[in-house]
Amino acid sequence: MKYSELFRVKPGSQVRLSKIDPEFTAKHKNKKSALRETEKATAKLRNLQYLLYAEGKRSLLVVLQALDAAGKDGTINHVLGAMNPQGTRVHGFKVPSAEERAHDFLWRIEQQAPKIGEVVIFNRSHYEDVLVTRVHGLVPKPVWSKRYALINDFEKGLVANGTHVLKFFLHISPEEQLLRFKQRLDDAARHWKISDADYAERKLWPDYTKAYEEALSKTSTKHAPWFVIPSNNKWFRNLAVSKIVAETMESLGMKFPKPTVDIERVRRQYHEAERSEEKILGKKKWTALEAREAAKECKDAGAKGKPAPERKHGKKAGKDS
Ligand code: AMP
Ligand code: MG
Repeated sequence: MKYSELFRVKPGSQVRLSKIDPEFTAKHKNKKSALRETEKATAKLRNLQYLLYAEGKRSLLVVLQALDAAGKDGTINHVLGAMNPQGTRVHGFKVPSAEERAHDFLWRIEQQAPKIGEVVIFNRSHYEDVLVTRVHGLVPKPVWSKRYALINDFEKGLVANGTHVLKFFLHISPEEQLLRFKQRLDDAARHWKISDADYAERKLWPDYTKAYEEALSKTSTKHAPWFVIPSNNKWFRNLAVSKIVAETMESLGMKFPKPTVDIERVRRQYHEAERSEEKILGKKKWTALEAREAAKECKDAGAKGKPAPERKHGKKAGKDS
């Protein structure tokens, strides 16, 4: 079964996180066994993002939500690391500023939505407004409880305008979180990730679970599905998210845009330029073999600190072109 089916929250279903094993790794026993599949998904992601950018017809929004230390940063690094920075963007949503709070909760989100051709990842999102906001009683129930419908409408609008929306909940166990908190304590390079709120938030695990379950159940729609990713194993989390993003992008049937120029005419121009280049050089162009030999000579000369060889059929080396 495709991962995009296996981990998708079916619209209208009731999510029970306790029923989903965060240790699950499908057929893979360890990172090594998943490596080939991960590399394949990564390569696919790279090609598909290039196509999305080139096509310039639609965009992709990936929403990441999770409790602390579940791996949002690592997932972003893995998924976007596979892509060309040109055409990708990450936006992290923090505690809203005074100005953001003065607007409706979707105001700051809309501004960060992807533009055509772009892949954007949200590190936290509008879902915080039915999660942390609810758990900490930052707004009253009549306010947050209306937000599920507002979120569904908002996402429907994005989709109608050509943005594909994929939402991932990175599911870890409390034991795994504690282990990762320890790793943060033991590694000075990770101390910056430690927050004063970590243990207070951890105590609210049952409340967050309830809030997540309701959010996942009420807002996993056909147009903007949620995926619950077993994330105790980072390598499996990366594999699953990459595969789902790749599977979705693949299903879009994207095509390179038609060239804006007459390729045959440009080809003729190229050959013309090539001929006049040969005339200036007075010789034929390099054969592939000659070019390879020259490149090798260059490399060898470089390694030995000698000057690079002169081009056999061209201008004298040293002259500016
Ligand atoms: P981090 O993701 O660790 O950088 O932390 C960002 C913090 O901002 C988290 O504690 C979030 O719960 C908090 N946050 C994000 N969005 C909101 C929101 N809409 N309301 C309140 N807190 C938020
Ligand atoms: Mg944090």
